[in-house]
Amino acid sequence: MSATLQRCDSCGASLFPFRLFCPACGHSDFVEHDVDDAVLEEATALADGTVLATVRCATGTRLIARILGGEASPGSRVTLTNEPNADGGTVAYVPFNREVKY
Ligand SMILES: [Zn+2]
Repeated sequence: MSATLQRCDSCGASLFPFRLFCPACGHSDFVEHDVDDAVLEEATALADGTVLATVRCATGTRLIARILGGEASPGSRVTLTNEPNADGGTVAYVPFNREVKY
């Protein structure tokens, strides 16, 4: 399992959500890269039971994810996925859709 991020082809900045221009250097050439896991920094449980979390990838990129399949505490490593129905224990779901037009 993994989540897809965007990497600037010029400066290497790792980005999510996807951008039209790199906020670090202004270039517009990107490649996609997959990240397997991240460290949970904060989590918030909503009234309906949904748990949203801020997770930090090894590149330093922070993502907002939904925790599925269990509980995770700050400092723990969570597996990232773009699959909303992923199996395999506690995962951090990051919505991603290539069909979205920018
Ligand atoms: Zn850049």
